[in-house]
Amino acid sequence: MHTPVTIIGAGLGGLTLARVLHVHGIPATVYEAESSPSARAQGGLLDIHDYNGQLALKAAGLMDEFHAIVLEGREATRVLDRNGTVLLDKPDDGKGGRPEVQRGELRQILIDSLPAGTVRWGHKVTDVRSLGGGRHEVTFADGATVDTALLVGADGAWSRVRPLLSAATPEYAGTSMVETYLFDADTRHPAAAKAVGGGMLIVPVQGREIFAHRESGDTLHTYVALNEPLEWFADIDFTDPAAARARMAREFEGWAPELTALITDGDTAPLLRPQYTLPSGHRWDRVPGVTLLGDAAHLGPSNGEGANLAMLDGAELAEALAAHPDDTEAALTAYERVMFPRSAEVVTFEGAEEGLLAMLMEEQAR
Ligand SMILES: Cc1cc2nc3c(=O)[nH]c(=O)nc-3n(C[C@H](O)[C@H](O)[C@H](O)COP(=O)(O)OP(=O)(O)OC[C@H]3O[C@@H](n4cnc5c(N)ncnc54)[C@H](O)[C@@H]3O)c2cc1C
Repeated sequence: MHTPVTIIGAGLGGLTLARVLHVHGIPATVYEAESSPSARAQGGLLDIHDYNGQLALKAAGLMDEFHAIVLEGREATRVLDRNGTVLLDKPDDGKGGRPEVQRGELRQILIDSLPAGTVRWGHKVTDVRSLGGGRHEVTFADGATVDTALLVGADGAWSRVRPLLSAATPEYAGTSMVETYLFDADTRHPAAAKAVGGGMLIVPVQGREIFAHRESGDTLHTYVALNEPLEWFADIDFTDPAAARARMAREFEGWAPELTALITDGDTAPLLRPQYTLPSGHRWDRVPGVTLLGDAAHLGPSNGEGANLAMLDGAELAEALAAHPDDTEAALTAYERVMFPRSAEVVTFEGAEEGLLAMLMEEQAR
């Protein structure tokens, strides 16, 4: 038996793995750097797809809990040009396969589904090393150690476990997001709220895209994707919100005011989020007793698939371990054989966006 499975990272991927292992009666411990489930805002909407994220939730036996947190109407999509002209306005007809949930609520469902004590909060991994024979030693920031026969790196982009398997490191993808929120938008920012509508807004301008979502209540959450080198952003002082807003406003001069309001009227300081990726098709040769999932394995462009893929990885790894109770290496080989090509297929940021737009336009034309 694979006892206990040691998972580093309580993101959606690591938690899904722990949950599906639990469904199959396999114990696991999840070590998480953050001090508690609420240590960091988990902001943002995630659309959970029927072809990956939802399959993981089915395997986790959590579909009822998932349906209970779906935000109705959020699959509506509007596409506007920079002048505010509506190119597409697709209402949510309830038949879409990508319902939206708040990330924090989804994470909480997974946490609540685990036996008490499964997640060890406040355990930041600082080092991992091979002990030979498929065993590994994990060292935490306080100097404590555990050793394990099965180690899973679910510790995201800057994984501490990845170097056991691969020399690859994330590189800047050439795009950074600037993130803002508008609260009570229907009353305080009505023009911007109308532009966004009931779900998602895309303004597909090459190198200056706007993506905005209506979250719970009438909060608008905006990401502006700017294709610029890191040095370009270094010249903007994001510690000075007013200066950063003014600098952003310059990039959107002449755009419809209801669109620029999403960036310049933010109720939160603009937050810079540079995008990093691992090489496309990242993979490794089998190393006994250790594997990766989610962003640790295949950090990709922000195309709305990352969290969904991480959850599917977690579910499939658990199922592979359950299917090979006495042969960990056979389980890891079976998991990686499917995971590598799937993650390599994940399309590029631009490709994903163009694909989504083409699909929406086609539907509209029908
Ligand atoms: C701005 C933005 C928007 C996005 N929008 C979407 C979207 O709409 N849909 C979608 O599917 N994906 C989206 N993604 C991608 C998605 O967030 C990731 O792909 C997903 O979170 C990966 O899950 P994970 O479990 O692999 O890693 P993570 O969610 O990164 O979780 C890793 C966990 O490991 C912990 N950890 C890290 N280092 C250590 C350590 N040394 N010791 C212990 N614990 C550690 C972290 O604290 C964290 O809890 C978005 C990403 C960004 C940046």
